[in-house]
Amino acid sequence: MSGYDRGMIVNHPPTPAAAESQPPRLAKKRFLHDAAEYVRDTGHRAFVRKALSGYYASRDLQKARFRNWEHARDAASLAKWSAVNRLDELLPRFVAAFEANGGQVHWARDAEEARRIILELVRAARAKAIIKSKCMTSEEIHLNAALEADGYGVVESDLGEFIQQLRGEPPYHFVFPCMHVRRGEISDLFGKHLGTAPTDSPEELTMIARRHMRRLYVDADVGITGANFLVAETGQISITENEGNARLTAALPRVHIAISGIEKVVEHLDDLAVLLPMLATAGTGQPMTCYNTLYAGPRRAGEADGPEEMHLVLLDNSRTAILADPEQRDSLHCIRCGACLNVCPIFKNVGGFTYGTTYQGPIGSVITPHLRGLADWNHLSAASSLCGACTDACPVRIDIAHHLLHNRRNAARTAPNAWERLGHRLFVMVARRPWLFGLGGAAFRYALPLLKALRPPLLRDWLASRDLPAAPRQSFRRQWDRRQPREGRA
Ligand code: SF4
Repeated sequence: MSGYDRGMIVNHPPTPAAAESQPPRLAKKRFLHDAAEYVRDTGHRAFVRKALSGYYASRDLQKARFRNWEHARDAASLAKWSAVNRLDELLPRFVAAFEANGGQVHWARDAEEARRIILELVRAARAKAIIKSKCMTSEEIHLNAALEADGYGVVESDLGEFIQQLRGEPPYHFVFPCMHVRRGEISDLFGKHLGTAPTDSPEELTMIARRHMRRLYVDADVGITGANFLVAETGQISITENEGNARLTAALPRVHIAISGIEKVVEHLDDLAVLLPMLATAGTGQPMTCYNTLYAGPRRAGEADGPEEMHLVLLDNSRTAILADPEQRDSLHCIRCGACLNVCPIFKNVGGFTYGTTYQGPIGSVITPHLRGLADWNHLSAASSLCGACTDACPVRIDIAHHLLHNRRNAARTAPNAWERLGHRLFVMVARRPWLFGLGGAAFRYALPLLKALRPPLLRDWLASRDLPAAPRQSFRRQWDRRQPREGRA
């Protein structure tokens, strides 16, 4: 039964399976195809740049309000480093405190187990309707599709996610899910699905969604949310948002189910004093998001609000494999602010859908090969110019550019393509012998005009969106030597 059948949403299309649920072996082919298409679409690129233009100014304004932004980055990084490196100690501490507050914890090894647990909870609650706030972990496990396949209607209560649900698309950006959609398109969408009159006013569009949603919070039996942080010392779940929809999703239905990766734990409540403003500043350019709520278990005797039951599904899904790798471990520090996407020249050119993953952009390119398999997703580590803008933007100091390099190295070691392996070996052989490197450079300088003219079939795809530069007359070494002051020469 769809959401529409349950009278929750008009013509609600079924939730699309995320692109990453397609056969993994097609992931690279699809990426290359879509990247080429989006790069050619100058209108799309201009729109995305315009959509992000206001973000930079707001972010810089808020950064300037910190007494010392770099020190704040150190503090945020330390809080996450200290927690991620002591997960074995802090997770049990969090669980004990959360259960003492009346909540119930469920451990999920992978996406399949998480879906099974949640379906059992929903069945046990005899749910007729489910409302959900923004939760990328639920996207990671393809929860909506599983619930719908079992006959449950799920409505996204975050405005951006709601729009994407109506469009039948996954989120375009994990913080700004519908940043690629124009106002007029949203008006048409609401007209088609909710029967509202056309409007160009953002306020009116928001009010339409709000009016539609209010009734659904009251009707829903189960509310599903994510979690931004899990506080070990108090057993509380911290959720940060801008619309108040997560609060209603958690508070009004009888049963609240939160889903979180195991890496979201922090030790102290005080850690949020730095992490919450950094998340808001880096993510959306706000001093703080509008609603920051701590959830400590279900409704207690004498309390007027809150769910009767509160469950937390703690998801591993390969996070412990990342944890076991000292080189990659700090990618678990990510607080999903989205700043690395906003500054990434590749993201701004190829857009969010091209990645075909739950987590797009630089951090998605780092973690997806670990979450879903290096062999099929290693192409993502090449989706970077290695300019380092992501590393500079990250509020918790994850060296994303280096992680991408590590992934490239690992991919080269395990490359299934014999030609690629041969190419790497040849390059190493040449690069280790300066005389051969010089000879190769000279040969390439002569061959370059020929390659430009002939466009051999092997390079045709590569050259479709690139211009080869004009060949320099001399090698870099020769130019360098020539430019040294005379007295400095040997
Ligand atoms: S890697 Fe850093 S910048 Fe990117 S989303 Fe995570 S915390 Fe934000």
